[in-house]
Amino acid sequence: MPYTGRFAPSPTGPLHAGSLVAALASWLDARAQGGQWLVRIEDVDTPRCVPGADQLILHQLERCGLVPEKTVLWQSARDEAYQTALNHLIAQGWAYPCGCSRKDIEDAQAAMGHTRARHSAAVYPGTCRHGLKGKAPRAWRLDVQRVMNDLELTVPLAWQDRALGPQHQDVAQEVGDFVLRRADGLWAYQLAVVVDDGAQGITHIVRGADLSDNTARQIVLQQALGLHTPSYLHTPLVLGMNGEKLSKQNGAQALDLSDPLKALNQAAHVLGLLGQRPTVSASLALWVHAWSEATSLRQR
Ligand SMILES: [Zn+2]
Repeated sequence: MPYTGRFAPSPTGPLHAGSLVAALASWLDARAQGGQWLVRIEDVDTPRCVPGADQLILHQLERCGLVPEKTVLWQSARDEAYQTALNHLIAQGWAYPCGCSRKDIEDAQAAMGHTRARHSAAVYPGTCRHGLKGKAPRAWRLDVQRVMNDLELTVPLAWQDRALGPQHQDVAQEVGDFVLRRADGLWAYQLAVVVDDGAQGITHIVRGADLSDNTARQIVLQQALGLHTPSYLHTPLVLGMNGEKLSKQNGAQALDLSDPLKALNQAAHVLGLLGQRPTVSASLALWVHAWSEATSLRQR
C-alpha cells in the first residue's frame, strides 16, 4: 500500500505549539517516505467543538506550508459510516448495549473491591455484557474479550511503535469493554478514528504521545472491522512551564503565526531536528529549489 499519513486535529480551538509539532511530524514523515498527507477534522464530540475553529486550523496549516493532498474529511459528516461499522460489530455479537450510568459503574467497581487511581478512567466491570437486566440501553460497548477470543488475538496485545519501541496492553483487563457509541448519542472517538483511518487508507499514524494509550483499543477495533493496522509513531509532547502537556485546558497560548517560520522552527526544535549539520545532498536539494525560484522570478 502506498504511504498515506494524516493529521487529525479536534476543532476545539486554534492550533497550539503542541498540535503544530504533531502536524509537522506527520507531514515530514509522509514527505520523507514519498507518501501523501491528509487532514481530517475530528469533530465527533460536537459539544467540545468551537464554531470556525476547523477553518482556522486549516488556515494555520496553510500558513505553515502544510497543505493536504486530498479533500479534508469532517467526522461530523460520517454518521452513516460509523453506523455501518457498529451494525457490523452488533451482527458479529461483538457489541452490546449498556444501561449503566457513571455511578452504576463506580458502585459495581466498589462492590468488586476495585479502587482506581485518581484521574484514571474507570475500567468498565462488564455489568451489561450478558443483558441489560431491565435497564434502558444508553451506550454501545465492544465485548473486548469476545473479539480477542473469536479472532484469536494474543493477550496482551503487542505492537511496535517506531519511536517508543515494543508496546503491549491487555485491553480487556486494563481498559475493559470500551464505548463505541456514547450515552448522549455521539460516536466514540475510538470508533470514528478507526473507521476513518480505514476509509482514508491511512498506512502510517504519526501523532502525539498523549494519544498512544488509544493504540491497543484501535488495533482491536481494526481487527474486528477487518481493517489494516497502520504503523505507529508517537512524537514527544510539548510540555508547558508547569511540566504538564500543553493544551487549551491548561492555558496553552494560541500559536503565533505572524512569523510562520519561527513557529515551524520551534516545532522542529521539539522534534530534535535543529542543530543538525546539513548534508551535501540536503544542501544541493535546497539550492535546486532556490535556483528555480530565483530563475522563475527573473523570467516574470
Ligand atoms: Zn452497563
